[in-house]
Amino acid sequence: MEQLLQQIADYKKEIESFSAADSAAVEEFRIKWLGTKGLVKTIMGEMKNVPNEQKKDAGQLLNEFKQFTEAKFEELSQQSVASDIDLSLPGDELPVGARHPITLMKNRIISIFQRLGFAVAEGPEIEDDFHNFTALNLPEHHPARDMQDTFYVQQNPDWLLRTHTSNTQIREMEKGKLPIRVICPGRVYRNETVSARSHCFFHQIEGLYIDENVSFADLKQTLYFFVKEMYGKDVKVRFRPSYFPFTEPSAEMDISCTLCNGEGCSVCKKTGWLEILGCGMIHPNVLSNCGIDPNKYTGYAWGMGIERPALLKYGINDIRLFSENDVRFLKQFTSAV
Ligand SMILES: [Zn+2]
Repeated sequence: MEQLLQQIADYKKEIESFSAADSAAVEEFRIKWLGTKGLVKTIMGEMKNVPNEQKKDAGQLLNEFKQFTEAKFEELSQQSVASDIDLSLPGDELPVGARHPITLMKNRIISIFQRLGFAVAEGPEIEDDFHNFTALNLPEHHPARDMQDTFYVQQNPDWLLRTHTSNTQIREMEKGKLPIRVICPGRVYRNETVSARSHCFFHQIEGLYIDENVSFADLKQTLYFFVKEMYGKDVKVRFRPSYFPFTEPSAEMDISCTLCNGEGCSVCKKTGWLEILGCGMIHPNVLSNCGIDPNKYTGYAWGMGIERPALLKYGINDIRLFSENDVRFLKQFTSAV
């Protein structure tokens, strides 16, 4: 036992004073002390020569010695890693994410309207019948309420996945703080067959302006500004009369095709025009439904999809690519704006 104690003390001294110049010396240290034929193993073998009544103390000592040696090796390895680093080498490339093309398009649209004083408002994606339909002047028999178009929540038939972002407009109007000038971006859901051209969920952005003396001229001027900022000064705009239950009068707005400059191509179906949004003056019934006096206030609203302009801008031919999470697709937008 005396001999064993002396041996451990000597080894400890040797290990303590050891220092490694490079990783090869660290490896030598490991083989000498901790290898399969190393000194730690050998001295552990001495246990069999220790008298039974001292085995417990000896075992403890030997274990401590083993841990001491392992700790030293750990320290040497870390020092060696540090000294092996060549600071003049170029660093490892970090994977850089990219914004999703839908986000890029959404931000682009938002930034144009923010310059005109529009604030951004958001609303719930699970909505009740009133905020998605009734308040918007959609009578009970309206086809948009049909099960084929809307996802209803089974537990409560009054709940549904919103079919447009107009629910956010209703919720803004209900707050009763006038005037209102907001844009409402968000995801919407329709019970549609998924194909290259349509999906069961997509994104919309809607605008709403309510104040005294807001006219259709204000609406047109705002949208003209948007189109020039978005598609360039040479793009032509036309309004076509249309019908929506929540606006009166209502219109669809087209722009001259940005791909063929109005000459006719497959994207514009040879018409030279692309339909980009629907708009109109807010129906007095909608204002009344939200507690706003239609005799005092008027307002306009417009709404557009985000997928379609993104498809056009980035030359994407399948709407499903947006939601497939394929890194090969998403990576292409690393430097896009
Ligand atoms: Zn065209």
